[in-house]
Amino acid sequence: MKLIMLGPPGAGKGTQAQMLVERLRIPQVSTGDLLRAAVREGTELGRQAKSFMDQGRLVPDEVVIGMIRERLARPDCQGGFVLDGFPRAVAQAQALDRMLAETGRRLDAVLSIEVPEGELLRRLTGRLSCPACGAMFHKDSKPPRKSGLCDNCGSRLITRDDDREETIRKRLSVYAEQTEPLKPYYRNQGLLKPISGSGTPVEIGRAIREALGIKDV
Ligand code: ADP
Ligand code: ZN
Repeated sequence: MKLIMLGPPGAGKGTQAQMLVERLRIPQVSTGDLLRAAVREGTELGRQAKSFMDQGRLVPDEVVIGMIRERLARPDCQGGFVLDGFPRAVAQAQALDRMLAETGRRLDAVLSIEVPEGELLRRLTGRLSCPACGAMFHKDSKPPRKSGLCDNCGSRLITRDDDREETIRKRLSVYAEQTEPLKPYYRNQGLLKPISGSGTPVEIGRAIREALGIKDV
């Protein structure tokens, strides 16, 4: 299946994408993760991207489109994929449509996770990330077992630069302005499936599988 996870920062796209990966055995392709890896490795692309990310702004389209083109061409994506964090603007969605058409592929569905803005702010302030393995925790709703340390790998957890409050507000406004227009874009293609993102991750996962017609075993 070829899927897109759409939703504001803090909606739980990454968590849900991960659940689909396990269920469907297709790779998760996250532009946020790809960009952070480039920043960690100190590549030229990473250096360019970092200043945009730290300000909560979108990295330029040609950068992320190039990254996605390369990633979707790899063998593991031929049987399907879950896109998480891409596309984030109409120009990116149009580029994706062209890319898929070139290789005779089509999207199956766009899952739009809907969460009220107040709830998003609460979730996003308090996020803790593992710089080593990418695991995410939250000081209230998902605290690590040992304070300040990653459950998976023991590394010291950090607040990502883009999880500072001012940056969070900027990310939410960028979402409203640039990413929300993707909803009518995909609704017109008959692909949009709105999912309530207010429940627990397990409940949201169930709603997603139902929307996709995947049987719960
Ligand atoms: P979140 O969804 O929690 O905001 P992500 O990890 O998806 O976080 O993205 C972090 C940052 O990476 C974004 O704020 C943005 O600067 C950059 N980024 C990620 N995906 C894209 C994209 N498709 N286009 C432009 N910038 C992106
Ligand atoms: Zn870790």
